[in-house]
Amino acid sequence: MISVDEALDKILSHIRPLGFEKVSLLDSLGRVIAEDIYAGRNIPPLDNSAMDGYAVRWEDIRDASQDHPIRLEVIEDLPAGFASTRTLEKGKAIRIMTGAPVPKGADTVIPVEESKKVADLNLQEDRFVLIFKAAAPGENIRKSGEDVKQGDRVIFKGDMIRPAEVGMLASVGRSFVSVSQRPLVAILCTGDELVDVDGDLDEVKIISSNSYTLGAQVKDCGAIPLQLGIARDRKEEIAEKLRQGIRADVLISSAGVSVGDYDFVKDVLKDLGMEMVFWKVAMRPGQPLAFGTIEGKPVFGLPGNPVSSMISFEQFVRPSLLKMMGHRRLFRPVIEAVLKEEIRKMTGRRYFIRGSVTFEENQYFVTTTGEQGSGILRSMVRANGLIVIPEGQEMVRAGERVKVQLLDRSL
Ligand code: AMP
Ligand code: MG
Repeated sequence: MISVDEALDKILSHIRPLGFEKVSLLDSLGRVIAEDIYAGRNIPPLDNSAMDGYAVRWEDIRDASQDHPIRLEVIEDLPAGFASTRTLEKGKAIRIMTGAPVPKGADTVIPVEESKKVADLNLQEDRFVLIFKAAAPGENIRKSGEDVKQGDRVIFKGDMIRPAEVGMLASVGRSFVSVSQRPLVAILCTGDELVDVDGDLDEVKIISSNSYTLGAQVKDCGAIPLQLGIARDRKEEIAEKLRQGIRADVLISSAGVSVGDYDFVKDVLKDLGMEMVFWKVAMRPGQPLAFGTIEGKPVFGLPGNPVSSMISFEQFVRPSLLKMMGHRRLFRPVIEAVLKEEIRKMTGRRYFIRGSVTFEENQYFVTTTGEQGSGILRSMVRANGLIVIPEGQEMVRAGERVKVQLLDRSL
């Protein structure tokens, strides 16, 4: 039996990143970018107004105050999207909207809140403006290139594309982008007791929930599940179904990898040409895990118990899929939390205990989610983290700090 760390090292050493594909901008959300992105021009392209107000020469308004407003003649109205052809001269102002390029001659923008329009004596409405407050030179002007300069590398190969990156890609004019391919992950559940979610149940049958938790975990990583269905505990049936999965990038089987009389999965995988890398990991839950490769493709024989299956996936399959998709960060965030109750365990194995994490008065606390049997799926439903207790430890007292892998992005 090997340790969790050894198992992970061995697995990851067999995982190669997939190739690339082009996708449209919005479809790139959540994907890993496969190219460096450079800006072809400055953003914003020109100096422009950060406020609705008046473009002025700072020299003209430097002494403005409530008691001594400065009066300027308004010579033009400038909305965003238009450039002025005029050059601002002494004593003049141009009404300017947020985003409009700053006209020649102007060097400062006065917000509309600091001004008041006035009619001139010829009753020509709004031809003048009173400025009630001076500004610093250059104030309220966004400089050309202040966001991005031409030639800047704005997104790095290997970055995850989030809404901000989508916006940046749009800003630099990329409607299509190269991203890492998503692995196709074939999933087979085995067991005479299993029926599909809408199948006929009787007292001895159970629904193959693993088909769906595994499918969901695959999707949650950004990979593509391929359901091979359910195989009864017969070598030929398992072999036939698994053979259909070999064309996928990753093959996952669930159950039948233990030492029971009907646990045929390992034998069948070997018959199909799998080179077994290891079987059994010193962890709980999830000890009976088989890993190997068929034609270089990773094959995971996961344990059947619903919690063991989920946790084995979390620890080993998820980082593998993320690596295939070019992610730089393969692991969940780990925090330290104060344990609210005592935990006892056997030494020699790493425990993954389902926990509920809260943030109170500037620190994290964690409680277990109750009954921790490997068939208690509700312990996962209630959990937002996995408490990791190292191999050598026998107990942790209430009040001590433990490491917790965060399963949710929000707490
Ligand atoms: P096994 O590894 O075949 O001994 O299965 C261990 C336990 O997991 C048994 O109680 C099975 O009924 C249960 N189990 C196996 N496969 C599934 C599945 N697809 N969905 C839910 N439970 C399962
Ligand atoms: Mg079984």
